Amino acid sequence: MAIRTIVVEGDDILRKVSKPVTKFDKKLWELLDDMRDTMRVSNGCGIAGVQVGVLRRIFIVEVEGMYLECINPEIVSVSEEVEEGMEGCLSVPNKRGYVIRPKQVKLKAFTREGTPFEVMLNDFMARAICHENDHLNGVLYIDKLVPHEDKKGKKE
Ligand code: ZN
Repeated sequence: MAIRTIVVEGDDILRKVSKPVTKFDKKLWELLDDMRDTMRVSNGCGIAGVQVGVLRRIFIVEVEGMYLECINPEIVSVSEEVEEGMEGCLSVPNKRGYVIRPKQVKLKAFTREGTPFEVMLNDFMARAICHENDHLNGVLYIDKLVPHEDKKGKKE
């Protein structure tokens, strides 16, 4: 295991489109293990390959004890119902902001062994998946911020 350096906003690599994984080999497993350790040590709930400088279509998410590794993921459908919620990103340190995301997503991906799977995910897990999937296409949550008003009507 190893902790990898997280790329931060301003680095052009975060704006690049990641390429599909073709080899489900030991090198990929090491990368996934490193990404998990890097995410956990940074108290993140998700991390994509590009965030450790690897332009491959992979991300992991960990929300409320549910850990999911997604290789060559594809969001196949999203609910019409959306929700505004707060997000942060390991590549945009010390910032938070509000983004509108679907409440539910259907995701197709492969495991680290190359086995295909399909899952329906809700609420914060759906949000995390959308956020990480955007990374694979060079998109950051700060591109999608919506103005947010708190209960006193004060803008954040
Ligand atoms: Zn992020």
